[in-house]
Amino acid sequence: MTRPSVRDDLRTLEGYHSPQLTVEVRLNTNEAPEPPPEAFNRAVEAAVAGVEWHRYPDRAATDLRAAIAAIHGVHGDQVFCANGSNEVIQTVLLAYAGPGRKVATFEPTYAMHAHIARITGAVSVMGERRDDFTLDLDDVARVIATERPAVTFLCSPNNPTGTVETEESVRAVLAMVEAVGGLLFVDEAYGQFAPWSAAALLDDDRALVVSRTFSKTWAMAGARLGYLLAPAWLVGELDKVVLPYHLDTLKQRAGLAALSFVHDMERRVSSIVEERGRIEVALRELGCEVWPSGANFVLFRPTRPGRQVWQGLVDRSVLVRDVSGWDRLDGCLRVTVGTAADNDRFLAGMTELLEETAP
Ligand SMILES: *Cc1c(COP(=O)(O)O)cnc(C)c1O
Repeated sequence: MTRPSVRDDLRTLEGYHSPQLTVEVRLNTNEAPEPPPEAFNRAVEAAVAGVEWHRYPDRAATDLRAAIAAIHGVHGDQVFCANGSNEVIQTVLLAYAGPGRKVATFEPTYAMHAHIARITGAVSVMGERRDDFTLDLDDVARVIATERPAVTFLCSPNNPTGTVETEESVRAVLAMVEAVGGLLFVDEAYGQFAPWSAAALLDDDRALVVSRTFSKTWAMAGARLGYLLAPAWLVGELDKVVLPYHLDTLKQRAGLAALSFVHDMERRVSSIVEERGRIEVALRELGCEVWPSGANFVLFRPTRPGRQVWQGLVDRSVLVRDVSGWDRLDGCLRVTVGTAADNDRFLAGMTELLEETAP
């Protein structure tokens, strides 16, 4: 047999890799440090009991979209829900990118934007951020004017750098994108940590969409649920590419249940912000280069090679994300803010690893 060959444009592509080791302290994927409250479990139990398992789900996810819309002060037809914001990204790119089109990102940023763009058959084009990882609007203008991307991504707060974009720069990028007939996609997976949201700029006459997820601040990474806020005409187009009944009944109900625990979510966000401050201070005291974060993780460059420090932490049963081999992040690691006890373990490990070699 001759093995059927994968699509030509996928041959050199690699899948998503984020090592999952069995450790005691997992600070590598930016999940929430704690589960939702016990009352949420009881709400989901009640929802399970009411599921009509022999029926297809509500294809339009009407109740869930209405509840999300209410939180953001928009209409249900301006909300699109999917299995995690990665599926939101994929759906938008299937509809608006694909073969013959380009997708722009500004690096370093969330690798899935360019990766999913390529999977849809689009060409990924990349611009550069400044050394402090803020957007370089001159480079953004250059990339957009020369490449004329169909979709341009911003990520605010940006993963893996933690950088929050200002409203002025998002407005400026939107003007550039609209000048070439493109679409601006702002990924706000960590939006609840930011002082403002691009959702405030949403308008039927703007080529702007904003994504959110239940995976981080809502403490529901296990559920795979995310959503898009967008003009209703754009949400309508997504119907052309999304699979029928892609969002199961139980997930729709679990999402709905989660939304009645907003205060618990907000409490988690503020305790994460406090712990994040503690981690930033401690890492700086250890001599690390630390980038200011507006999210639930911290990017830092230790005084020893990142890979060695990563391994030293694994030896102490602490897992962080090794981004030291990424372009522009030479030697860097990214740590998710965990519980106070998790963070103590991480910082104790860092102290052992860095102080024993200090001059
Ligand atoms: C974690 C993350 C997501 C979340 O993806 P889900 O599919 O919703 O779990 C999306 N965008 C960014 C930038 C992220 O860091």
